[in-house]
Parts: sequence; structure tokens; C-alpha cells
Amino acid sequence: MLPIYLDHAATTPLDPEVLEAMLPYLSSDFGNPSSVHSFGQRARGAIDEARAKVAALIGARDAEVVFTGSGTEADNLAIFGVLHQASAPARPDLVTSAIEHHAVLNSARALDRSKHNVTVARVLADGQVDLDDLEAVTSDTTALVSIMFANNETGLVQPLANVARVARAKGALIHTDAVQALGKLPIDVKTMDVDLMTVSAHKIHGPKGVGALYVKSGTRMQALIRGGSQERNRRAGTENVAAIVGFGRAVELLKGRFREDTQRIASLRDRLEAELMAGGRGMVLRNGSAEPRICSTTSLSFEGVSGEDLLIALDLGGIAVSTGAACAAGSPEPSHVLRAMGLPRERVDQSIRFSLGRNTTAEEIDRAVGTVTAAAERLRKKRG
Ligand code: PLP
Repeated sequence: MLPIYLDHAATTPLDPEVLEAMLPYLSSDFGNPSSVHSFGQRARGAIDEARAKVAALIGARDAEVVFTGSGTEADNLAIFGVLHQASAPARPDLVTSAIEHHAVLNSARALDRSKHNVTVARVLADGQVDLDDLEAVTSDTTALVSIMFANNETGLVQPLANVARVARAKGALIHTDAVQALGKLPIDVKTMDVDLMTVSAHKIHGPKGVGALYVKSGTRMQALIRGGSQERNRRAGTENVAAIVGFGRAVELLKGRFREDTQRIASLRDRLEAELMAGGRGMVLRNGSAEPRICSTTSLSFEGVSGEDLLIALDLGGIAVSTGAACAAGSPEPSHVLRAMGLPRERVDQSIRFSLGRNTTAEEIDRAVGTVTAAAERLRKKRG
């Protein structure tokens, strides 16, 4: 039997049409986009086209999209780029939240604390940022408020409109990490009223190693990587043309299928969740509230079962899931997201994240329910 992949929040398979679009740029169309000749012009044209597609999807102007080497790099660029820019001394501080991705949290930690205050807003038990706390910690020395759009472990959508209101009232810029939201929530940077936004290709069936940062025109931001004048001096280095083209094609493939895909995935996710909870007879609990969530993700705790043991048992049984964020997997640290929501350590250690994708089928969900329920019972008995 084919293994069942329920870890789409970690990454998604490359769409064959994306691969097809990329291939010429790995062979015949190899030009450097900065070259003046026809080889260079073809590569430049391909990048321009991809940029226009990404910009159109998020409601930005082409010139406001900066391609980066990953979502992580885009998060770093937003934070260091804004906080290190020369005219910042009057507003040196950063406000973020306790449930951000490590790309944001570890960038925040790396800021020079003698120059920048970093405040981490609290999170409510339901998995959303505590707006009262956010308001209390945002001040007229705050340069940037960085709050994600949707969380990668729980799938919970953050109250971005209110976050923007709080930040605007204090004159701060707003960055949102929308890596998990792209393709799952309608995104329009203008109505969302954000200044900077991170996206990444490999969560939408595009290639790994390419992301983008939306930078609203007029936003003062320093480059992180210096060298040539690529990306309008905001990200030096010869562009990864094939990956950027793949990102553009992946974005294009979202068009026309958004509503149908998200509804279908949500109903499969809800079925998985409901059946696992019913089969667990009170010993399977959802972490965080049911709404508002992106369609694909659920985080569940299995009482009396180690999440690590369950993950391994499921892998042996042909089901790929995770205990938390992929980049934190294998680390002895408990999920900072679930801890920030106030869950006791024991329950955090019993957690599994299931994340579905556009190729997930009802049959796979039925098989997963049976395998997960049986594995959890077996492990519970072994312990008990
Ligand atoms: N931000 C969030 C919310 C993510 O889920 C991820 C990836 O898991 C990233 C940032 C990092 O993106 P990338 O893998 O492209 O570096």
C-alpha cells in the first residue's frame, strides 16, 4: 500500500506542471538574468512573469515583490531589514508573538538587545494572539509588529485586521508571515493593511528554496544580502531562475481551484478530527479552537501516548505526520506554540500535527483514522 502523506504543513509535493515549467531554466534557458544578451533577456523575462503572478495573487504591485531563497530568509529580511535601517533610532523596537515560526523568533532573539527592545506578546488558550497584551506592549518606539497570518502547528488564523489596527495606532510597520496561509486564505496586502509579508513556494506545490517578501512601496528597509543590484538592491545574488519560475507556475495553478480545494480539504480535515476524537473516547483532544483555522491542519493530543512514539508507529504503518513544526522535529524542546497556549508539558508531548493537501483522498483519511486509532490504543496499553 502507498504511504499516506499527512504532513503538508512541512512541505508539499512538487506539482508535475510546476516541474515542467522549471525544466527549460535548468537546461536550455540557462542565461543569467543580469546579462544584456538574449540568453539573459529570456531569464529576466521569466522572472518578471513569475513576479507578476505572485504580485497578482497577493494584490501587490510587481515592484513590491522581492524574491528570496526561502520563507525563512524573507522573515529575516523583514525583521533585520526594517530594524537595522539607518533612520531607525527613534523607533528601535520589535513586537512579535510567542507562537511565531522560529524564522521570526530566532531573528528577534538575534537582534542586538542593547539597541532594540523585543517584546513577545502573549497568546490565548484558543491559539490566537492576545490583542490586549499586543496593544499594551506596542508603543511609539515600536518599529515593527510581526504577527503571522496562520500558525503552522495549529492552523489557527490570527486576528490580523486588529493587529494592523493596533500597530497603525502606534505608527509601527506591520509584517506578517503568511507562509501557511498562502493558497488557503484569501490574501490581499492592501485590505490586510500590511507593509511586509512573507510567502514560500514549497507549501503550495512549488519548489523548495524560494520565497518572497512583499515590501510595500516606500517602506524603508536595508538589504540583508549585499552584492549586485538584483531585486532592486534588496536581495543581491544571481536569481534562482528555475525556482522562481516554479513559484510563479505554482501560484498560477492555485487560480480557479481555491474555493473547491479549500472546502474539500477542510471537510476531510474535519472528518479526520471528528473520527479520531470519537475513536479516542475522550482521550483525543484538539489543541486550540476549531475556528478560525486554515483548512488543512489539526493538532491533536493523544492522552496516555507519547507523540514521538505515535509518530514512529505511524511511520512504520505508512502514515507520515509530525509532532510539530518540521524544523523543530527531532529537537528535545517541546512545541513553543502549544506551551505558549498554556498547555501542560505532558499534553504537549502527546501532540501530533496532521496536515492535509490537495491530493489527500477520503480513502486515505479513512485508512488513517483506523491506523492512528489502533496505534494509539496499542501504545496506551503498552504504557498502562
Ligand atoms: N514561516 C512559517 C509559518 C512556516 O511554516 C515555514 C516553514 O515551515 C517558514 C516560515 C519557513 O519557510 P521556508 O521553509 O521556505 O524557509
